[in-house]
Amino acid sequence: MDYLRKLKSLNMQITYSQYGLLAQYYSQISPLILLRYYDDAACVLRKMCLDTKAPHLSSTLPPTLPWKFNKHVQPNKGLTRQGNGNSEELRCVIAVIRHGDRTPKHKVKLNVTEEKLLNLMLKHNGGKPRAEMREAPAFLPGCESDSDPEDLEHAEKLRQVKAVIEESRSGLKILITGKEGKPKTKILNVVCKQFKFMEKKLLLITVSIITNLVFTIHILYRNSNTWNPTWTSRAAIEAEDAASVSCSGHGRAYVDGIGVLGGKQPSCECNNCYTGKDCSILLSDCPVNANSGDPLFLEPFWMRQAESSAALVSGWHRMSYIYQDGTYMSEALETVIRKLHSVVGNAVTDNRFVIFGSGSTQLLAAAVHALSLTNSSSSGPARLLASVPYYAMYKEQAEFFDSVHLKFEGDAFAWKNSERNDNTTQVIEVVTSPNNPDGKLKRAVLDGPNVKTIHDYAYYWPYFSPITVPADEDLSLFSLSKTTGHAGSRFGWGLVKDKTVYENMKRYITLSSMGVSRTTQLHVLQLLNVVVRDGGDNIFHFGHETLKKRWETLNKVLSLSTRFSLQKIKPEYCNYFKKVRDFTPSYAWVKCERPGDANCYEIFREAKITGRDGKVFGSEESFVRLSLIRSQDDFDHLIDMLKKLVLQEGVEAHSI
Ligand code: PMP
Repeated sequence: MDYLRKLKSLNMQITYSQYGLLAQYYSQISPLILLRYYDDAACVLRKMCLDTKAPHLSSTLPPTLPWKFNKHVQPNKGLTRQGNGNSEELRCVIAVIRHGDRTPKHKVKLNVTEEKLLNLMLKHNGGKPRAEMREAPAFLPGCESDSDPEDLEHAEKLRQVKAVIEESRSGLKILITGKEGKPKTKILNVVCKQFKFMEKKLLLITVSIITNLVFTIHILYRNSNTWNPTWTSRAAIEAEDAASVSCSGHGRAYVDGIGVLGGKQPSCECNNCYTGKDCSILLSDCPVNANSGDPLFLEPFWMRQAESSAALVSGWHRMSYIYQDGTYMSEALETVIRKLHSVVGNAVTDNRFVIFGSGSTQLLAAAVHALSLTNSSSSGPARLLASVPYYAMYKEQAEFFDSVHLKFEGDAFAWKNSERNDNTTQVIEVVTSPNNPDGKLKRAVLDGPNVKTIHDYAYYWPYFSPITVPADEDLSLFSLSKTTGHAGSRFGWGLVKDKTVYENMKRYITLSSMGVSRTTQLHVLQLLNVVVRDGGDNIFHFGHETLKKRWETLNKVLSLSTRFSLQKIKPEYCNYFKKVRDFTPSYAWVKCERPGDANCYEIFREAKITGRDGKVFGSEESFVRLSLIRSQDDFDHLIDMLKKLVLQEGVEAHSI
């Protein structure tokens, strides 16, 4: 709109009329001046139109409008008017519009030399050319040297201005000013500086937009499934690769398995009695492993929970010896452990110190050590006792560590009834409940001021036993191996009431291992979070159902036998499942009933079933322990072999 100019002194407001049209109101200025301005503008426009479309008429018309500018025409007078003896009709309206809410900072000035406009300006400026020429802002570096304005074509100038106008739709101020005699460079420099300024601004805006986009995309991707990992991708690919090796369902491939060092896919590690590259071959005459308490019965659960249970360990994960609070224990993990006991209802954690160990095996040694230190008796070392059948580790540890403060004394019942039970000798009784090997809930045999008790609650979980009451003891031990099945992670914890005992246990843990691996603690945190997330519903139901089925199958097979018998435990009310339920222990505590079968372990071994000798548990040779918590393959194989063994008794095959 080169032919329009703004009267600088006008204080212009733009608003909407009742018809929705833009109306302009001016204040601080005479309406007559305004009318004259618009009349003159109309004359200029009329001349331009005629010059272009009807030049023959252009010179015939008077240069001014045929009415007096000081006569204000009422808008409702109609669309025709009489003037100069001729009737005129309004054919079109040319709106001279200037956008009102521009930002003055964005200015582009174009030098125009239209004579008519210059005259118009002179006319309305008291005959003086406009003196003010706003300089480019001081912070804009000059660009006079950048271009020679004389070389620039007028068309190029217009093109630039057009580009600026298009770029700066709002806040653009178009000032038409006549500066005859002023060098064009001045005005062009302003334009040039304005371009530079705009370029800078545009650059900043672009950088800002890109930065914002990057952050937004980052946040969105982090929260969506399509998030693209960066440094985790290789580890993730390796983990997924290993998980994708099927091994015919009779084995597993692990990320640290044999073969990975050569850059190959990890090879299958087959379940017991399976072989071949993909574990598809079942070895005939292979002895069943029913010996160890490897809790692989929970493996299918964790495979289903592959995503929620996975923990990725960065190369710099907790490299320090200590956590930020100076301890060896993850505070988050301690919190989750307390929560776990509260959701399962198997132990009171209030007013208890929590201590971590590398499996409850380490905690056992720590507890025995701590309790034997409190021995003030002059009657020799503290005696370690457990009622038969007991978990062999208690005896083995005491004998191996051979402390002057401690001696393994054997069966707690035998001690109770012996003459040596003088009520002054310090004794430490380990109570395993549910018991390993027979799965029964056990109570302490001994009591008195000279008796300290360690409660081994490794199996006090809903898979194996009804949760009858929350354990509320001075010293209780728990094992991750029987909580989640992660025996290999080597994690256990203790709940300790007495501060001195706790400190002495802590000292033992510190001197033997400086706490539990920080990586293990991260892993355990992840696992227990999965367990507590739904109050343990998923895992305990899965584990309990699995063992229930296994016990049903086992009972069915052995119910046809008179040669072998199983432990019997009366059902009890379970506070966790909220019903009376059977015990479903980890182990079958099998008795060989025939007098001729003196060594039960041997009977089973000959039948290609490797169990654990009753003698190991301080019991008799007529007992053998068979593990029921191993993999499904092991269990199925065990049942197959047991059927064969029972068949030898002459039981009809079809009845099994
Ligand atoms: N206590 C009992 C009764 C156990 O049977 C076991 C192992 N099965 C442990 C403690 C040791 O558990 P951990 O693997 O945590 O050392």
